[in-house]
Amino acid sequence: MDSKPKILLADDKIENIIALEKLLAPFNIETVRASSGNEALSKTCEHEFALALIDVQMPEMDGYETVRLLRQVKLTKYLPVIFISAIYSESQYLIEGIEAGAVDFITKPIIPRILLGKVKIFLELYEQKMQLLKEIETRKKSENKLLIAEKNLLEAKAKAENADKMKSIFLANMSHELRTPMNSIIGFASLLKSDDIDQEKKLKYISYINNAGESLLSLINDVIDFAKIEADQLKINLEMVVVWDVINELFDIYTEELQRRGKNEISLHIDRPLQNINAIMHTDPYRFRQILSNLLMNAIKYTVKGKIVLGYHFDIPETVTFFVKDTGIGISEDKINLIFDRFVQIEDNPNDTIVGTGLGLTISSKLTELLRGKIWAESQIDVGSVFYVSIPFSGTNDSKTIDKEIKLQLSTDTQIISSLQKKILIAEDEEINFFFLKEALRNSQVTILWGKNGKEAVEIFEQNDDIALILMDIKMPVMDGYQAMARIKKMRQVPVIAQTAYAMAGERERIINAGFDEYLTKPIKIELLRSLLLKYI
Ligand code: ADP
Repeated sequence: MDSKPKILLADDKIENIIALEKLLAPFNIETVRASSGNEALSKTCEHEFALALIDVQMPEMDGYETVRLLRQVKLTKYLPVIFISAIYSESQYLIEGIEAGAVDFITKPIIPRILLGKVKIFLELYEQKMQLLKEIETRKKSENKLLIAEKNLLEAKAKAENADKMKSIFLANMSHELRTPMNSIIGFASLLKSDDIDQEKKLKYISYINNAGESLLSLINDVIDFAKIEADQLKINLEMVVVWDVINELFDIYTEELQRRGKNEISLHIDRPLQNINAIMHTDPYRFRQILSNLLMNAIKYTVKGKIVLGYHFDIPETVTFFVKDTGIGISEDKINLIFDRFVQIEDNPNDTIVGTGLGLTISSKLTELLRGKIWAESQIDVGSVFYVSIPFSGTNDSKTIDKEIKLQLSTDTQIISSLQKKILIAEDEEINFFFLKEALRNSQVTILWGKNGKEAVEIFEQNDDIALILMDIKMPVMDGYQAMARIKKMRQVPVIAQTAYAMAGERERIINAGFDEYLTKPIKIELLRSLLLKYI
């Protein structure tokens, strides 16, 4: 890599230069010639020299003048110069030369060994200087690398500390979120034991226990979903979803939720585009509901009064954009992009009673991504927020499926079928679960038949040709729900709704593929059960 060190030879007589070159031949160097002071100066701009041998006597600009000028330029300020002269051998000239900036003087006739000895010293000095510069350069580079590494390290440390802080906040919240409903359950359950409570109080306590149980369940579901998201294990199941049905169902559930929370100063509204257009989407109904539920729940949590609007509009031909708009506390502009990050909760919530784990929007955002959609928010402090979710009509890219399955249907508004005297069959081995379903349907004027296992359910179905709907538990002794459903479907077409604890991975897929018309997740939500009854009978 290294080029040879260069020596500048400045003399107006070419024969002197040639003689010098001959003398310097033993060195592994490159010489550059200059026939005047001016040329010598311009050569120093073109090359970097280890040493300059300059004749004192030159026309126009002599050696002294040349060196004085060299000393004034930054680049050549420290270039070692040796004067060569025949006549200026007296000490006065020597002094003038040294004062001009030369480091040495050689008088003619040149004694080769003296010249070689002096040049050698300067070449060695130059080599040392170059070595030093190289070391400085290398050190600078490694210092830069170190600085970058230190910066990265500090960033990683800050990130880790932040993650740690978030995790601690999350754990503290989680512990609070777990303890609050647990305390209610334990506290009110023990109050229920006492003999001297009236019926009204009893019902109140039961509803507290019920609500606490619901909160716990939703928390557990969130944590499980979050863990699945982190492990990249969350799968979606595409099905046909009637948009209007979902919106209606959510409207019912969250109107009740507002009442349950005593939020009487908030009203819930639906904003739908066209009264008689009913869109069918090909998406995951469970996850789709979950996203909108999270947004509605947040709207309720973070709004004190005003209104919440659940709405959608078609971005035909490809997507439907759903929105949840509230008149709540709002989110400041600098924080709005953070809320979809895990564990993030905006700290300056004015209301201490608002709790949560900071997982809801993270889960919603991941679910939206899985449904090939987008989620975003607009908000203004003290005015309110709007959360948007746009989801494609089809969860697949397969255009054939899209043609076949996605349609905008013209339909008259869903007729509410009044509860005629209908028979429904419940296949359920657990008495308590049957009892719950029976109670849940008490006011719907349906006649309920009970099969305690799959076999019994099939037999009852054979004997009653007017059964309009079956609620089928999956795990039952003697004959399980899958076999019973298959036998029943062979006899006659009837809607069969699976009931599942949805605990085992893949069970949901299996249920859908097996031919059940719908499934309900245990513990079964009464509103969902009722809306399914309306849909099927
Ligand atoms: P959580 O509600 O459990 O804290 P989320 O992930 O659902 O967690 O929401 C994250 C944060 O975003 C909330 O803590 C809250 O500060 C803010 N946020 C979410 N929805 C709203 C809303 N509708 N209005 C105001 N702030 C909201």
